[in-house]
Amino acid sequence: PGTTLGYRRVLLKVSGEALMGQGAYGVDPQTVEMIARDIAAVAGTGVEVCVVIGGGNIFRGLAAAAKGMDRAQGDYAGMLATVINALMVQNALEREGIVTRVMSAIAMSSIAEPYIRRRAVRHMEKGRVVIFAAGTGNPFFTTDTAAALRAAEMECDALFKGTQVDGVYDADPRKVADAKRYDSLSYMEVLSRDLSVMDAAAISLARENRLPIIVFNIHGDGAFARALRGEGPFTRIV
Ligand code: UDP
Repeated sequence: PGTTLGYRRVLLKVSGEALMGQGAYGVDPQTVEMIARDIAAVAGTGVEVCVVIGGGNIFRGLAAAAKGMDRAQGDYAGMLATVINALMVQNALEREGIVTRVMSAIAMSSIAEPYIRRRAVRHMEKGRVVIFAAGTGNPFFTTDTAAALRAAEMECDALFKGTQVDGVYDADPRKVADAKRYDSLSYMEVLSRDLSVMDAAAISLARENRLPIIVFNIHGDGAFARALRGEGPFTRIV
């Protein structure tokens, strides 16, 4: 499948939204299958892969808080949503013949291993795809921050953020016709221009750990593999 630019270990962030496919809520099985095939192909090249799954397709703490729910309580519900998604992605990956482990930041020992950093590293060294569920385990954070955190802990070479659009734009490309995509941005540019690609906590964490972020469109067969080979379009944040 071609060169993967010397990546040894990478983290893929899949938002909950990406799992919805054309739907407006929940999980589209065909989309999950496509993403699983993509991950399996990359893992098959020998690159160590770990995955952070979002939960926004099911529940968001912030949205619930806007309707009167306690924010922290809503955030815990949101973290549980990521566990549901993680189990579905695990199932799809295993159907592709990939050995996986789900590790949850919130103890849920009947369905997932507890997150233990050294154990996660060991799984990856053995070629297993590790799926990190329940975000950081703390309310007031996002799964983007969890992705930057786990990527730093796992000493990943890069964080690949699979989204609905093929990179970071100066305006929402779904609303503004002549929105311009950036090929490359610095962490500081993302922060100072307040570009809504990832929250500031995630960007800061990536910056402190010199973790490159590649924002690409996850929809389409082999999208992750192409991004790994350096085939655009995407936006690189370094
Ligand atoms: N969440 C949280 N702490 C974390 C990660 C997630 O409280 O470390 C909650 C938060 O309520 C968030 C929800 O889980 O809205 C779903 O995660 P996120 O919105 O990041 O998912 P995505 O946008 O990637 O689908």
